[in-house]
Amino acid sequence: MFKCVQYSWDDVYKLCKELARKIKNSGFKPDAIVAVARGGWVPARILADFLLIRELYSVKAEHWGIVATVTGKARITQPLMVDLTGKSVLVVDDVADTGETVEIVAQHVREKNAKEVRTAVIDFKHTSKFVPDYYAREMEKWAWIVYPWSIYEDVKDLIVKLNEGGNAEEIARKLEEKFNL
Ligand code: 5GP
Repeated sequence: MFKCVQYSWDDVYKLCKELARKIKNSGFKPDAIVAVARGGWVPARILADFLLIRELYSVKAEHWGIVATVTGKARITQPLMVDLTGKSVLVVDDVADTGETVEIVAQHVREKNAKEVRTAVIDFKHTSKFVPDYYAREMEKWAWIVYPWSIYEDVKDLIVKLNEGGNAEEIARKLEEKFNL
């Protein structure tokens, strides 16, 4: 059975606070944060606030297409445009599912000459082969997590997935109507 877990904005904020506490307690003091676009943007911005870090960059990696569908190997589609030589860097994403995305982004940042690279995610699923340095929550049984920044996108994708052959544009239009977007 396909299982979904949904978070509110408040849940995400609390989980990021927990994550920031773990990072601080470990003694790691990053100079910069690299967010994995797009899922890592919101948690990275919240963590930058809790950790008082002004250097916030982004790398886009793609692995999952439509909800719960892997599209092959994780790959970087928008590389880092800054030099991180000698810096301690925290790579942030929303979730490690297979763990490939956060792992390749951490490797990409290492190749930019960072002094030290650590990884943080809100959710660490036990399906992940890669264990991030920090996570707020562990998920033993696999479920798709719906974060508050992509509810409509995920609902539309889910409807398309469940009604194979469904017209994505028509479904998006109906959702817009229903939720007054
Ligand atoms: P991985 O490479 O670890 O398999 O997947 C990581 C990326 O896939 C995340 O950045 C996220 O965008 C997407 N992803 C994987 N699992 C989930 C999930 O349960 N919920 C959401 N919203 N995105 C997911």
